[in-house]
Amino acid sequence: MEKKAFVTREQVEKMVRDYPTPFHLYDEKGIRENVRALQKAFAWNKGYKEFFAVKAAPNPFLLDILKQEGCGCDCSSYTELMLSRAVGIQGGDIMFSSNETPAEEYALAEQMKAIINLDDITHIDFLERTLGYIPKTLSCRFNPGGYFSLGTDIMDNPGDAKYGFTREQMFDGFRILKEKGVEHFGIHAFLASNTVTNEYYPVLARQLFELAAELHRETGAHIAFVNLSGGIGIPYHPDQEPNDIGVIGEGVRRAYEEILIPAGMGDVALYTELGRFITGPFGHLVTKVIHQKHTHKEYLGVDACAVNLMRPAMYRAYHHITVLGKEEAPHDRKYDVVGSLCENNDKFAVDRMLPETEIGDYLVIHDTGAHGFSMGYNYNGKLRSAELLLREDGSVELIRRAETPKDYFATFDGFAVYDKLFGDKR
Ligand SMILES: *Cc1c(COP(=O)(O)O)cnc(C)c1O
Repeated sequence: MEKKAFVTREQVEKMVRDYPTPFHLYDEKGIRENVRALQKAFAWNKGYKEFFAVKAAPNPFLLDILKQEGCGCDCSSYTELMLSRAVGIQGGDIMFSSNETPAEEYALAEQMKAIINLDDITHIDFLERTLGYIPKTLSCRFNPGGYFSLGTDIMDNPGDAKYGFTREQMFDGFRILKEKGVEHFGIHAFLASNTVTNEYYPVLARQLFELAAELHRETGAHIAFVNLSGGIGIPYHPDQEPNDIGVIGEGVRRAYEEILIPAGMGDVALYTELGRFITGPFGHLVTKVIHQKHTHKEYLGVDACAVNLMRPAMYRAYHHITVLGKEEAPHDRKYDVVGSLCENNDKFAVDRMLPETEIGDYLVIHDTGAHGFSMGYNYNGKLRSAELLLREDGSVELIRRAETPKDYFATFDGFAVYDKLFGDKR
């Protein structure tokens, strides 16, 4: 599928008068329409709810948009819980899916009455010691081990993943929890990441529904919800066929009707914890070409670097690039598009065919709306960029300012560096 930027060169030239590059830009309209399509696909399930995976795009303005659309939050840490609270997402609208969880994080999750999703059977005791009791509603994360395949295609390797209860532990865990007074149970699993196929959710749902029916039969536990978690992917590469969320919803419905309805479990709510699928395509990293280098290869040096978007450096991930204003020009030049880190993996693209590009051109790096800004870091003393929101009416709002050196030095308490540099006391 052809990839088009959701902004033009003219729009970006206006934005940079107020907000210099690099910045992440999000498309409110795209996010809202996408969430509505997701909810429509699962509208057949009465209790359906999307708990947006906060770690994908932890910005209160984005969470607020998602809240308005009826989403909850999937949190994995103390600060993500705080962020949810700040935007007014509370209680059963929060799924706390953490692992190797510190006690104070469980305590805050319980204080906020979030739904706790346990990652391990030993956390039953840990949680009880932390809280002094066991909540009436609890979820357990399942990991069947082995490989997760669709037909002959291996999608991922849960057997090598640190998460979740084994099958046997699910049964033991449910029995123990039931004795401890749990009344409503959830089952959660995340078995393959960034799947670009309509089959992942239906196949996963089938496995979890069968497990739910068995757990109900053998332990008498009331299964209140099945959480299909994240994992629906996006087509980063233009050759990839995007997922069809309507088809995915129908596939899950068939499994539900074949397994849960006959088991007398037609009240089970379906939950999802999508991150990438929700916001991924609706974010751009906008950056300016500031250097051109002609050595053993042709390089475009840009003002963003891997600290703004780690995926290419970390996973060698493909991110499509559009040279704004040159969309229709022949893509007859081969470039490496590189950032300024002292790390040779700081390359947004290698051997990429692009139109002839000049210093001063603006590039859009696509699909940075999830696991983009949020994976940022400060290596080489680089600062995090701003985040901007393109509102539905075409206006642009600063939803996170760029870091300044003051932010970078703010944590040197007691070493007086901050005070020497900035001359004020905090
Ligand atoms: C990361 C994560 C998600 C979201 O994953 P996506 O790939 O962004 O859909 C959901 N649930 C849990 C527990 C996660 O760790």
